[in-house]
Amino acid sequence: MEKAIVWFRNLLRIHDNPLLNWVHSSEEIDVIIPIYIIDKEWFNQDSNEIGHNRKKFLFESLLDLNKNFKKKYGTNILILYGKSSEVISSIIESSDSELKYLICDYCSEPRKRNSINEIKDNLSNSSIDLKIIPAVNTILNIEMIVQSPNYVNPKSAKDIDKIFRENFEAGPNGYFVGKSLSPPDDLRFDLDAMNNMIDKYPIKKYHITDDMLKNRLIKLKLDFNIVDSYFIGGEKEGLERLERKISKRPDFVNSFKKPDTISTNKKDNPLEPTTTGLSPYLSNGCLSPRLVWNECLKIHFNSRHENPPESLHGQLMFREMFYLLSRSVKNWDNDVGNSNCKTIRWGEYNNEKIKAWESGMTGFPYIDAMMRQLESTGWMHHLGRHAVSCFLTRGQLWQNWKYGRDIFEKKLVDSDWALNNGNWLWLAGVAPFSMPYYRIYNPCPDSKSSLNVETIETKFIRHWIPELAAFPSKYIYEPHLAPIDVQESSECIIGTDYPYPMVDRKLSRKENLILFKQSNERISASKKHNF
Ligand SMILES: Cc1cc2nc3c(=O)[nH]c(=O)nc-3n(C[C@H](O)[C@H](O)[C@H](O)COP(=O)(O)OP(=O)(O)OC[C@H]3O[C@@H](n4cnc5c(N)ncnc54)[C@H](O)[C@@H]3O)c2cc1C
Repeated sequence: MEKAIVWFRNLLRIHDNPLLNWVHSSEEIDVIIPIYIIDKEWFNQDSNEIGHNRKKFLFESLLDLNKNFKKKYGTNILILYGKSSEVISSIIESSDSELKYLICDYCSEPRKRNSINEIKDNLSNSSIDLKIIPAVNTILNIEMIVQSPNYVNPKSAKDIDKIFRENFEAGPNGYFVGKSLSPPDDLRFDLDAMNNMIDKYPIKKYHITDDMLKNRLIKLKLDFNIVDSYFIGGEKEGLERLERKISKRPDFVNSFKKPDTISTNKKDNPLEPTTTGLSPYLSNGCLSPRLVWNECLKIHFNSRHENPPESLHGQLMFREMFYLLSRSVKNWDNDVGNSNCKTIRWGEYNNEKIKAWESGMTGFPYIDAMMRQLESTGWMHHLGRHAVSCFLTRGQLWQNWKYGRDIFEKKLVDSDWALNNGNWLWLAGVAPFSMPYYRIYNPCPDSKSSLNVETIETKFIRHWIPELAAFPSKYIYEPHLAPIDVQESSECIIGTDYPYPMVDRKLSRKENLILFKQSNERISASKKHNF
């Protein structure tokens, strides 16, 4: 009887799960042991590096995965907590000679590649085959493409379109990216081995039961007084959201143009995104990007629809582009030794500036509302992300993009190493695919702003900044300009109840444009000199 360990890495679902389909169709494998490891080197319950919303989303997703798995197959996944390579070694040591395969999904992030390389080395003297399945959380086979001889780093929508054309058949409504798989109906498990493992050391010490997860979730919610948390983790929620936001809304999908979406959320609900809000489910592996693509493709069929880069397919293509770049560009997450990052002379780390930005106390209500939404829900509209990242870097505060990146990484429920770094590089104006550095967002947008804000009822600002709840909409995006009698009647004195703007936005913009230009000139001069 030949056995396989099926290791879900960035995979918290059973639909379109190529690992399960592969073991099901394999003639060599009789039974499987499904596992998920919460990697201790990344996730520490007490560490401050991963925000409470991210932790909550993970716990909810794991509980949901186990529930779905049990419903479908009658057994649980083993959830383990420890350093991945040590946990895998322990499982292998405690297994018998019938264990033939370790199967997992491909992950491109360096931390995860290092971990798999360590495991590969440990397995080199054993008879166990390691099988890494590609294109599980991306549409493209990232490793194969970046290793191909003709690969060139994409830097535009046109470039990523070319890569899609080379890899998939093009139809009039979008590329055919392959079927999204249904979960196999029957799988056989090595239940004796699974029970033995959790009963005995060393695996017992790594094992996390559903009850332990539930308790941690309750404690987390109490500790952080989680009330406004809008995104609930898990495959079930992801699939329901896909249906609610995409499958049942053909007009929304066909007319979707990203730059037209409103950054201050739905007019009547300051928590509801005007985009799909699927990113947490995609980033955490609760939802398959291929399935999202195919749902849009079905809707486009025989209808008039928008096209990439502004359509939903276009958004998914940007996602793939950043995955490719994050694998092919060395030091993707750094500002030195990164061919996709200009070395701008940013200002010294300024704790006061960073803290005001992070805590939503800059005195710019649009920026503050976005940052408070991030703290509370772990999410922010794409244009809101544009505005706050521009504000922190080349716009107003002249701080290195990496400081903002770290705060996003900690707090975003859709936190994704490839995408977060890629978008910060984009917005800081330092990458080949960046917008021109002199296009700076006004942090006090009006109805004409490309940040697309709602300016009549301004519920979004009132919800996230209760200090301004009674302020007239006319002044709400720039409240320090309101006459003192308006401030008094709104029960919010600027400078006392809500901060005065931390910088003069026009002056800081002007100064930073000069600094950016100087950095550009210095870079050009040093290139000429080197030549
Ligand atoms: C500074 C900054 C940091 C960001 N960090 C992250 C991050 O850590 N994780 C993350 O998922 N997204 C990140 N984004 C990209 C984008 O803001 C979010 O993907 C999007 O807002 C999620 O909302 P949605 O699911 O409603 O998107 P939709 O507009 O509905 O798009 C559908 C899907 O396409 C993908 N997508 C959309 N826009 C982008 C983009 N610009 N780049 C790559 N993929 C995209 C996402 O997977 C998204 O769920 C960042 C953007 C900025 C400006």
